[in-house]
Amino acid sequence: MRFVTIDRRIHALTATGPVDLAPVTGLPGDPAAFFAADGLEATRRAFREGALEGTETAGTTADLSGLTLDAPVPQPRVVWCIGLNYRDHAAETGKEIPAVPTVFVKSPGAVIAPGATIEVPPFVTQPDYEGELAVVIGKRARDVAEADALEYVAGVTVAHDVSARDHQYVTTQWCWSKSYDTFCPMGPVLVTIDELDVTDLPISTRIGSEVLQDSNTGQMVFPVAHLISFLSQGTTLEPGDVILTGTPAGVGLGRTPPRWLQDGETVEITIGGIGTLSNPVRRSS
Ligand code: ZN
Repeated sequence: MRFVTIDRRIHALTATGPVDLAPVTGLPGDPAAFFAADGLEATRRAFREGALEGTETAGTTADLSGLTLDAPVPQPRVVWCIGLNYRDHAAETGKEIPAVPTVFVKSPGAVIAPGATIEVPPFVTQPDYEGELAVVIGKRARDVAEADALEYVAGVTVAHDVSARDHQYVTTQWCWSKSYDTFCPMGPVLVTIDELDVTDLPISTRIGSEVLQDSNTGQMVFPVAHLISFLSQGTTLEPGDVILTGTPAGVGLGRTPPRWLQDGETVEITIGGIGTLSNPVRRSS
């Protein structure tokens, strides 16, 4: 199944386009509250019983152009992030493959919608892109085993971990340099993982005709199931919580010379089976 969020309310993509799920299911429209109330199962039932047109896979070919979408979870409780989680990216930064996941958070206030503008603060001189697979938690998870971890996923989407490199490496902590307002675009669509193999998805980042990242989630050092299990040890993951799973090789920092985001550029991140997240960049001086 595929979901979009419009006016902060979760919609199913059906054979006839997006349908607001709150009136159909009687559940809350807020995506996190919807998943907490077992909205995935309610949506499946609505398709089976004909309350939604088409089948659970009806939204696969939906045309999203012309829709004004929010991020799938517009205001998550937390955005967990994993650093250096692709073998090819760890190599380009000259860092060793980590033995345990490198965990940090982005401020949830940085989340913006597909198509919304990334506003680089004037004092940031090295803004960089990072295309990432994002996981949205679907039910409360605590101390879950890796073998069971994917049962706790509502779905996956595309995220952009915008990073101010000039600030990232003047401290040992990464939250600051990655939490500026607008530095976490997400979307356009949330896809349930029964439609995908999250261990084998092509992921690429493009600016205009330049293909800057071109990899596969199979390059992850710690796969999605491991990350969920790891993060849930001693820490409760709640429905609507987001996990950014790291970026592959090709970031601007790893290029010679480094390539920073420029005013007026549009960054397009595509993950196979999900779609393309596109956001323009504005730099003011
Ligand atoms: Zn990242």
